[in-house]
Amino acid sequence: MGAPDEKLLSLNTATVRQQWQLPDIIAGCARHSIRGIAPWRDQVAAAGLKEVAARIRDSELTVTGYCRGGMFPATDGASRRAARDDNKRAVDEALTLSAQCLVLVVGGLPKNREGRIDSKDLLGAREMVRDGIGELLEYARPAGMPLAIEPLHPMYAADRACVNTMEHANDLCDELGAGVGIAVDAYHVWWDPHLKREIERAAGGASGKGTSRLLAYHICDWLVPTTDLLTDRGMMGDGVIDLPLLRSWMDGGGYRGMHEVEIFSANNWWKRDPDEVLATCKVRHRDCS
Ligand code: ZN
Repeated sequence: MGAPDEKLLSLNTATVRQQWQLPDIIAGCARHSIRGIAPWRDQVAAAGLKEVAARIRDSELTVTGYCRGGMFPATDGASRRAARDDNKRAVDEALTLSAQCLVLVVGGLPKNREGRIDSKDLLGAREMVRDGIGELLEYARPAGMPLAIEPLHPMYAADRACVNTMEHANDLCDELGAGVGIAVDAYHVWWDPHLKREIERAAGGASGKGTSRLLAYHICDWLVPTTDLLTDRGMMGDGVIDLPLLRSWMDGGGYRGMHEVEIFSANNWWKRDPDEVLATCKVRHRDCS
């Protein structure tokens, strides 16, 4: 398998979020000839939505995803309604940014009004997720904003996402219909024995003839040992994920989108010169993914 086209590299802004504000990141992408970006809502809010949209447009960056919506489960109706309203705002912002999808981190066990987990009802949480995405779809589908369910590694099932496999995400897509797809993040799904099969399933839709559900592809690496559940992701090539193999499966599934580097790294990459980080992303994307 040859090296990936460098034009397909996209930067999830979490990768340098500790060093730069969003306008700096946009300028950094331009400086390093990185053509895609995936910004986070808090960074967009801090810099101003319209201002960010204009800068991204001027820099001719493709917005490979908007991070993020979701967090549906809650023990009380008021919190669920608040999540619903906030997710609609996220759809509106994603539209303003011309994002290719709104990424959904769906939420874990139901939380109370104070934001603390207040239930052990995992099955109920998954029903709330299905219902929450279904309701949001009624808003997002006519607006033309695809929703991308991101299955997260099962270590996050309690507090971040109770959708943990591609199979579960595919099942939700089957149930909910058009307008919803999947963000495949190598970090979250690399271990799954059914990964190839489920990528193929996502590529063809339920019937094998439908349009692809593969809406985004996030890359980084799994370090051994991993010292933090959230903020110890590795740069491509520094860990144990066979990224070229995974890319071949995505390509085989007809995925033609960009490869979004998303690295949370409190003790390494977040401490480095951000220009060095972007330069390294480019080299490792070419050589190790
Ligand atoms: Zn991701």
